[in-house]
Amino acid sequence: MSTEATVIGGGVIGLTCALELARSGHDVTVLTADPIADTTSAVAAAIWFPYEAAPADAVLRWSAESATVFAVLTSDPSAGVTLRTGTVLERSAAPDRWWIPAVTGHRVIPGEELPSGVTSGVRCEVPVIDMGRYLPWLARRCEAAGVRVIRRRVDDLTQVTGELIVVAAGLRSAALTGDAPLIPLRGQVVRVANPGLTDWLIDDDNPDGMTYVVPRFEDVVCGGTAELGSVDTAVDLDTERAILERCYALVPELRDAPVLSRGVGLRPTRPSVRLEALPGARRIICCYGHGGAGVTLSWGCAREVAALAGEA
Ligand SMILES: Cc1cc2nc3c(=O)[nH]c(=O)nc-3n(C[C@H](O)[C@H](O)[C@H](O)COP(=O)(O)OP(=O)(O)OC[C@H]3O[C@@H](n4cnc5c(N)ncnc54)[C@H](O)[C@@H]3O)c2cc1C
Repeated sequence: MSTEATVIGGGVIGLTCALELARSGHDVTVLTADPIADTTSAVAAAIWFPYEAAPADAVLRWSAESATVFAVLTSDPSAGVTLRTGTVLERSAAPDRWWIPAVTGHRVIPGEELPSGVTSGVRCEVPVIDMGRYLPWLARRCEAAGVRVIRRRVDDLTQVTGELIVVAAGLRSAALTGDAPLIPLRGQVVRVANPGLTDWLIDDDNPDGMTYVVPRFEDVVCGGTAELGSVDTAVDLDTERAILERCYALVPELRDAPVLSRGVGLRPTRPSVRLEALPGARRIICCYGHGGAGVTLSWGCAREVAALAGEA
């Protein structure tokens, strides 16, 4: 059933939902309060990894579906997606590898082959998405599919016309749906020139602070932080120095790489992703609360939104 649909939100979730809705035959408008380049999505590292998102069963399903789409997108150089091999470092005797079913193929590396303090590691190949290229690509795909993207802040859903509304406003979604507020999980990154790295590294349980190294094309994203409740979007240079030191300790090749850019974003967290149609006379679908995994979950969630929209 084709309808006039309005998607509130122009981050990775809103744009992917808009594209899937348009591909399903709906007449779609995206309303975004911020320029696409200023969204949290633009700050994402962005490696395929289901970090800080629940519930596990749905997250695995959405992640796996997104991984399949991203793998296909590697054949389009303008999308900015690559498949890269890397290692998740583990520092516990009984690591929780709940995410493994969503990847195709992995190898467990014993701790003695890894840095000191690391008990084991999992090596696998996953998509890496360069958001500086990917978001403009997504916006172009939306435009080509007939989606209109309009800069406009919505304060109340009564301001929105159309038969179907998708609320994909990230952290600010709750204000529109009357939900309990989402909790920001602040993340800071610094991007350095790529000295030739291809492998990524994730060391979330590093005792000195969460650490990850994600090589894109020209640059490498070095992270990070996870500060629950902080709404400070200013770059903190002391935090940046600490991030870089942690990354240098694990990947010494980065030490002389010049800093190219930096960013801070607020991950939209809630106890679980909200993806459901609300009861009532108007058709409203919620799609928010993707925490640290919005890119990872984007295609799986968008397809589920399009399926819900197709139900009478
Ligand atoms: C440092 C960092 C690293 C990350 N790394 C990864 C990673 O490696 N992999 C991964 O999968 N994820 C990662 N994430 C998480 C990811 O960025 C988020 O989960 C994702 O961006 C959420 O997307 P979104 O579209 O819901 O929200 P956003 O990108 O925040 O977009 C929200 C949109 O809604 C609009 N909006 C808000 N309120 C209104 C309103 N009232 N009216 C109109 N429009 C409105 C905004 O203008 C914006 O367009 C990272 C996040 C951070 C901060």
